[in-house]
Amino acid sequence: MIDRIVNAGVEAEEPQEVELEITLRPRDFANYIGQERLKQNLKLAIKAAQKRGEPLDHILLHGPPGLGKTTMASVIAHEMGAQIRVTSGPAIERAGDLASLLTNLSDGDILFIDEIHRLNRTVEEVLYSAMEDFKLDIMLGKGPSARSLRLDLPTFTIIGATTRTGALSAPLRDRFGIIHRLEFYQADEIQQIIERAASILKVKIDKPAAIELAKRSRLTPRIANRLLKRVRDYADVNGDGIIDTELSHKSLQLMDIDELGLDNADRMLLAAIIENYDGGPVGVETLAAITAEERGTIEDFYEPYLMQVGLLERTPRGRKVTPKAYKHLGKQSKKDEQSALL
Ligand code: ADP
Repeated sequence: MIDRIVNAGVEAEEPQEVELEITLRPRDFANYIGQERLKQNLKLAIKAAQKRGEPLDHILLHGPPGLGKTTMASVIAHEMGAQIRVTSGPAIERAGDLASLLTNLSDGDILFIDEIHRLNRTVEEVLYSAMEDFKLDIMLGKGPSARSLRLDLPTFTIIGATTRTGALSAPLRDRFGIIHRLEFYQADEIQQIIERAASILKVKIDKPAAIELAKRSRLTPRIANRLLKRVRDYADVNGDGIIDTELSHKSLQLMDIDELGLDNADRMLLAAIIENYDGGPVGVETLAAITAEERGTIEDFYEPYLMQVGLLERTPRGRKVTPKAYKHLGKQSKKDEQSALL
């Protein structure tokens, strides 16, 4: 994947940025801004579980990257007073890896599995009975002498995170008692996230500049924090350390991020659909070919936001750009061009 500032994933980050994420990560519900419906539901589930003295139901959080799934998992652990272990789908290669993770948990612990849609089938099948009745079925030996062994597990809670629920098998999905989608944030919530981050990082930013940054952060906290950091660098070098609108404007221009938060890669994608396919519809594989990205990257990173802001739409025959996209890029559709000539 190309290295993009507006990419909400964590892959291409420097260690410094990972550290930044840790310090900025809210620890409790009070500091977790937005996602009100999710918070209300979770608060209720936590209270009920605590009242009954039972572990929390397994929770599946889904939605585009950078919206706060991992953060929410640690908030839940904090609010439950529970220990959290963090792993990811691709990291659990064999059933044995899962067995050792699960047998090392204690009652009430939370196991966070990021990218849970990438678990392989064998591991997934072991997880079913573990999630359902806290038993671990393992096969000993092979062939006619093979026998299965059932182990008791501590009562734990799985929190799974995925960018794509569609990629999750139905039996796995069914084993989650609470399934929730994280939505893109409101611009004013992103502004609050920026102001909170600025105060933690001791960065001076005025209100209009925070509003401006919020508008260009793709309604995503991870990108908001990242833009704030880049603008801070610019302010440290070119200004007197205080971020105002003019300064944030200049620095965002330097990063080629426009007023909707699109970067060159997004604009290229939209322009290619307009110029080569007359606005679409066009298949996602074609989009992947145009941008030299993987299909998953298009589906996880580009599309959700472009659809959220109404520049792209999904139709049964493929993806289409909207009139708003033509306007944003200053382009005319072929039909309009022809009628203008007549
Ligand atoms: P995901 O797991 O969905 O990819 P993360 O939980 O890693 O996203 O969130 C990315 C970063 O955004 C976190 O490090 C945190 O600093 C910030 N963040 C996410 N959600 C919020 C929120 N609701 N309030 C404040 N900051 C947030």
